[in-house]
Amino acid sequence: MRLEEVADEGQNRRFRVLLADGASVEAVLYRGDSLCISSQVGCAVGCPFCASGARGLSRSLTLEELLGQLDAVRAEGHAVSRVTVSGVGEPLHCRAVLPFLDACRAARIKPSLTTSGGPLARLREAIGAPHNGLTVSVHAGTEPARALAVPHGPALAPLFDVLGEEVPRLSRSRQRKVALAYLLVEGLNDADAELDAFAARAARLGLWTHLYAYNPVPTSAHRPVSRARYEAAYARLSAAGLRVRMSCQARVEPNGGCGTLVATRRLVDTDPRARH
Ligand code: SF4
Repeated sequence: MRLEEVADEGQNRRFRVLLADGASVEAVLYRGDSLCISSQVGCAVGCPFCASGARGLSRSLTLEELLGQLDAVRAEGHAVSRVTVSGVGEPLHCRAVLPFLDACRAARIKPSLTTSGGPLARLREAIGAPHNGLTVSVHAGTEPARALAVPHGPALAPLFDVLGEEVPRLSRSRQRKVALAYLLVEGLNDADAELDAFAARAARLGLWTHLYAYNPVPTSAHRPVSRARYEAAYARLSAAGLRVRMSCQARVEPNGGCGTLVATRRLVDTDPRARH
């Protein structure tokens, strides 16, 4: 495994991780100590706003490849204290991710992950696993919008059924480690009715919701909403009783943000202009 730094802008540094079979994924170091790594070469979930899954799935990474991303960035002199499996790929489609959480805890690194929620049996396992944060990407309030935004993720009804069963079993401190995410995309999920439907589902769980601004990518025609619309969505969800956080600065910078990282199957495919 080799590492190439492809961008150093603002608070974030983005790396291309070159794997032994010639494929590559990307990793981002946030604020010098929090590392976002990839779990798959590509992704099968197919979110239409995302560059990571634009070419479909090639394969999942091994435990050695997950740990290797961490080791390689540390070897560059970065003191990584937190790692999140939120880069290219759906973590719950990668069998090595749950063992990776255990390995991180053993190494005194705080691990977290972001998932679209499926398979649901593995989501149940992951909720109870020794993570330091699990964020479920929902991105919709109605089933038709969910099917468009997260095409090969679980539907909202069974997803919220699992959350409704598993979250109350957690201690209060563990419940605070589970959150929902809503990436606001113009024309896809930004209508008031969509936000209201999401709030109605989410309110009973009592979890935090991360309301993300969207960083557009060259592989998608989708666009972010205006800042005014983003703030109005935040106010609407808050007024509906949800605890909502807006995107931090590190996330809205060009190197940050869900769905902007790129995987390539072979080194010759690498497009240096592509952004994750
Ligand atoms: S947003 Fe996440 S789950 Fe959706 S296609 Fe991209 S990497 Fe996969």
